Amino acid sequence: MSEVASVRAREILDSRGNPTLEVEVTTTAGHRARAAVPSGASTGTREAVELRDGDPERFGGKGVLGAIAAVEGELAEVLVGRDPDNQPSNDRAMIRADGTDNKSRLGANAILGCSLALARVSASQAGVPLYRHLGADQATLLPVPFFNILNGGMHADNTVDMQEFMIAPIGLDNFAEALRAGAEIHHALKAELHERGLATGVGDEGGFAPDLARNQDAIELIMKAIARAGYRAGEQVSLALDPAASELHHDGQYVLAGEGRSLSPDEMVAYWAELADTYPIIVLEDGMAESDWAGWATLTHRLGDRIELVGDDIFVTNPEIVAQGVAQGVANSVLIKPNQIGTLTETFETIGLARRAGYQVFVSHRSGETTDDFIADLAVATRAGRIKTGAPVRGERLAKYNRLLDIERELGADAVFAGHEFSR
Ligand code: PGA
Ligand code: ZN
Repeated sequence: MSEVASVRAREILDSRGNPTLEVEVTTTAGHRARAAVPSGASTGTREAVELRDGDPERFGGKGVLGAIAAVEGELAEVLVGRDPDNQPSNDRAMIRADGTDNKSRLGANAILGCSLALARVSASQAGVPLYRHLGADQATLLPVPFFNILNGGMHADNTVDMQEFMIAPIGLDNFAEALRAGAEIHHALKAELHERGLATGVGDEGGFAPDLARNQDAIELIMKAIARAGYRAGEQVSLALDPAASELHHDGQYVLAGEGRSLSPDEMVAYWAELADTYPIIVLEDGMAESDWAGWATLTHRLGDRIELVGDDIFVTNPEIVAQGVAQGVANSVLIKPNQIGTLTETFETIGLARRAGYQVFVSHRSGETTDDFIADLAVATRAGRIKTGAPVRGERLAKYNRLLDIERELGADAVFAGHEFSR
């Protein structure tokens, strides 16, 4: 039997120029694999805790030398000598070693880096691609890419309140054609902005970040860009929004500062219903704040049978919180960000629970990313059918989309594109 021989980590930089860690696991059979950890900006308050040094002399306090020490010290002590193929047992051993509810002692970033690197080294020993290692024969469904082509909120310095305006090429034949549509529409949007004298610089996830008077103007511009690129909105390319409403929520009201107005939870739900009536929106993520469970229930009651309502900040990929959501009739889809929970095993637990409840699962990057492409394989392995990993620009975003191109090619005739899962 091959055993974990060593676990090392180093401090690298993410796409925002902040430190993060990359973990490398080697085995006694001579295999080696690495994994890097992403980091969010509009984080849920109940996410597992990312360990940061807090030393103002280094990277404004964001250094991860403590997390690295945890990997090379306590976590290595737990893992060395273990069978890398036994992911659940290895992940549980790390959770036990940490001993807290939210991984705050050793760090969810330290633990996740180990967890993902272990999965990779195990796949490498088995001599199979990661998606097959994680998903076996079911790993044939290529997800619809949700391209975030216009950024606002915490991800850009413009006047747009809502964080993400996405296009979803659901009516294309395969992933490669969907990626092409995304790139062409992104370019068409740039031309639309340029013609109007609007800024064409991009936000954290590669989407444009112009100043606009109303959030709805972003949707109008994207509708124009879809047509300009020669695609039929609604039929070939639909829309998705992630307003990250927790960030808009102050004293029980939803504040659209860029528009100079404030909405009650009921008015917020009515606003979403109106947008869904007007535009071909198929997905609304975090339409309500993580603390507003009543508002979430109202939203789900009103729109849950028409569009996919994805819980991100409210669920934080946590199986216990998703179970509460199911019990209370909140949302119908769960955003999956492995670093919100901190191990691959718990990520799979959340996915299983969501599925059994009839919820969709939606795989996601973070706004601070690396070129690690693990989530591309994860999306295929779990048959999620949906992935969001930013605009079709910037290397750290394309790493995932290009990996999906590779997987589609490798699967050949076995590959199925998930576009048909969405009704038009
Ligand atoms: P984050 O944002 O990675 O900054 O948390 C992404 C999202 O809200 O989906
Ligand atoms: Zn979100």
